Amino acid sequence: MLLSTPKAAVLIDCGMFQGSKTLKALNYGAFPFDLSRVDALLVTHAHVDHTGLIPKLARAGFTKPIYATPATIALCGVLLPDAGAIQEMEVEALNRRNQRHGQKEVSPIYTKADAEQSLRLFVATPLGDWIDVAPGMRARWWNAGHILGAASIEIEVEGAGPSQRLLFSGDVGPGGRLFESDPEGPAGVDHVILESTYGDVERPALSRAERKSVFAAEIMAAHTAGGPLLIPAFAVERTQELIVDLLELIEANQAPPGPIFIDSPLAVRACDVFLRHGAVDGDAKTFSKLRESGWLKFTEGVDESRAIERVHGWHVIIAGSGMCDAGRVRHHLKRQLWRSEATVLLVGFQAPGTLGRFLQEGKTAVRIQGDEIRVAARVRNLGAYSGHADAQGLVRWVQARAPISGGVLLTHGEPENASGLRRRLIASNAAGAVIVAALDQMYELSPGALAVAEAPQAPRLNPAAVASFDWHNARSEFLAQLQQHLDAAPDDAARERLLARLCEGLEAP
Ligand SMILES: [Zn+2]
Repeated sequence: MLLSTPKAAVLIDCGMFQGSKTLKALNYGAFPFDLSRVDALLVTHAHVDHTGLIPKLARAGFTKPIYATPATIALCGVLLPDAGAIQEMEVEALNRRNQRHGQKEVSPIYTKADAEQSLRLFVATPLGDWIDVAPGMRARWWNAGHILGAASIEIEVEGAGPSQRLLFSGDVGPGGRLFESDPEGPAGVDHVILESTYGDVERPALSRAERKSVFAAEIMAAHTAGGPLLIPAFAVERTQELIVDLLELIEANQAPPGPIFIDSPLAVRACDVFLRHGAVDGDAKTFSKLRESGWLKFTEGVDESRAIERVHGWHVIIAGSGMCDAGRVRHHLKRQLWRSEATVLLVGFQAPGTLGRFLQEGKTAVRIQGDEIRVAARVRNLGAYSGHADAQGLVRWVQARAPISGGVLLTHGEPENASGLRRRLIASNAAGAVIVAALDQMYELSPGALAVAEAPQAPRLNPAAVASFDWHNARSEFLAQLQQHLDAAPDDAARERLLARLCEGLEAP
């Protein structure tokens, strides 16, 4: 988001588009604003959908300060160079393929060196302190209870009239988490810019003990099915929470003992950041003690990772990425998805168009690294570990900010969640105008009023193009179905007829 006044302009977060190929293509395009006008970047938290394009800013020549909490900076120090290295690797592989097919070379969005360059721009902002971030703008960070270092950012803006107070929620946590305290924020602001990830979803409020017992039931079911249990998880916080609960369950005889592979070099480095910056001291100590458990296997090298293939008997693999879009988890999925005795447990948000979402939707075949894989494994969902507030949590969070003299602008959610949250906020009377924000649209924020401004340029995507359809995966499903029909056919003559009919269909107008 770009916040612009006659005197200054600041960016709030600079994330990478995640999801369908159409959406991801936006990561390669030019920034839709004049970068030379931007005075600073204010970061809410380290998740890649909020920070993933920061190195691209540096590559484009941005040298202004980037403000974030110390823990967010530490996490970015691990995540951004990793993101750069992944892109260099992926583009290298893509270019080898393009060369073979006589296609043009492509260059990465940014490199590891760009990421390291961008890290030099970070300036640490402790929670609660007002900081002058640009002419006529000061800001302070509030704990958002979402992940380590995550914050909501309050910005006071001087204008022609009275100054205005804006609150950018970042991602809001659900409260009652193992490592995070409950979200906080100021009361009495002009406008709130609020995330809506789970804006129309209600989850039962579970205590930590209840959440653990739901997890235990999933583990037992995976064990009964014959195992192994594969958990795609984000390297920061989710992985650490799962480790703590899993080990406590084994200790209490509520989960079968067996090796737990943390197959992510990123998660291993994130664990170290966690130990240094752990929000809740007592729990950080619990975590460090548990990290020494004999069941935990941190596999840093590729050879160690490959060796997991040869493990027999019950074991658990936790690997990134959480939405199955990249990382080592894809290798494990390729190996396990076709096995009916294996279980894949999805514990986090799965963006439309990602492999994780296709699995969640029950697709019978998917495409991984160019191969069609039939899905026979048990695919299960566990919402209890979400790092996001649900619909009621978001409404309560807004109510705690009262009085809001202006309006609420909803961002960061799929259309049905954003519009669902809008309905709920209007019903709760928490604020005046409630508007669902659109990509590349501008809004005018004045004391007591929030309105849609005229668009300065055509949006980069029309909303219909953001749909989750991805023909690569549709093809995989089609091919899997075709194979099933061919296998079920009584004889070769029947197979020949089936294929002939399909070919006719391809020729038809
Ligand atoms: Zn987040």
